[in-house]
Amino acid sequence: MAQILSGKEVAIAVRERTAALATELTVKGYQPRLGIIRVGERTDDLYYQSSLQKTCLSVGLDCQVFAFPLEISQEDLQKEVAKVAADPTIHGILLFCPLPKTLNEKAIREFIPQDKDVDCLTNSSLAAIFTDAPEGFPPCTAGAVMETLHYYDIPLKGRHAVVIGRSLVVGKPLAMLLLREHATVTICHSRSVDLPSICRQADILIAAVGRAKMVDASYTHSGQVLIDVGINDDPDRPGKICGDVDFDSASAVAGWITPVPGGIGSVTSSLLCWHTTLACKTAISRNQE
Ligand code: NDP
Repeated sequence: MAQILSGKEVAIAVRERTAALATELTVKGYQPRLGIIRVGERTDDLYYQSSLQKTCLSVGLDCQVFAFPLEISQEDLQKEVAKVAADPTIHGILLFCPLPKTLNEKAIREFIPQDKDVDCLTNSSLAAIFTDAPEGFPPCTAGAVMETLHYYDIPLKGRHAVVIGRSLVVGKPLAMLLLREHATVTICHSRSVDLPSICRQADILIAAVGRAKMVDASYTHSGQVLIDVGINDDPDRPGKICGDVDFDSASAVAGWITPVPGGIGSVTSSLLCWHTTLACKTAISRNQE
């Protein structure tokens, strides 16, 4: 039976160091602040917003929401994002995506300056991940996987990590972060042939697929660390969520496993607050130069 790698524990550790730095900054007269930009009122956006507001509050961050109607034009939204970007009291910006199809999301993302791009939404932040440049922040989900591996002292150097999924949000940047720490990385996707046999070769298997319970016992082995990034509607339990991993099946075989809920998703929003606090600290140092 696999040992559980609890994301909740990791999230607490991230929140503790965020609160400590936020206190240090506020005592000096600086208030770290996250700006959330939302268009429309999608249920999952509202849910994420409320959860982020609570997390910010718990670590001493301000959170300001800039909400716009679905009908906003491209030009007006660009102006609004540019305004938030220029506001010196906002240190991190999160744009809720996807935007409505009437808007050119790629163009709007580029109005976020890299030093406030706390969830790696711009091309320059992504490029920094691929070139190992120090600027910017990794996407919070990919960062949450790395944070979890570090927290549990999972060795990466020379080990074989298999990432299922090649999106720009999770799979590809995560592969680069693993490579940076000298893992040997294989990236799989929907055209990979005999996925279970590739995955069984992994010391560390990361599922970022978006398919409920796809990864079962046939993908894993007793020495494997199995990280589940997926957040899906549970087909067997209406109203509940499940991961990309079939927990009951895979946990009977794998060595270590992250649950859903209570796994990587718990770490992601805490990391966003950490990035915002770091962005605040960097802005202060830059202004003092
Ligand atoms: P995408 O849909 O953008 O990408 C999914 C990837 O999985 C693609 O590369 C796709 O391959 C691959 N894939 C799909 N089906 C298969 C298959 N049958 N076999 C092998 N590979 C397959 O999803 P995201 O990367 O945005 O998200 C992945 C998961 O992570 C989702 O469950 C999402 O909800 C979750 N998520 C969780 C977050 C968190 O905070 N924990 C945050 C963001 C996402 P191809 O490229 O060939 O199409």
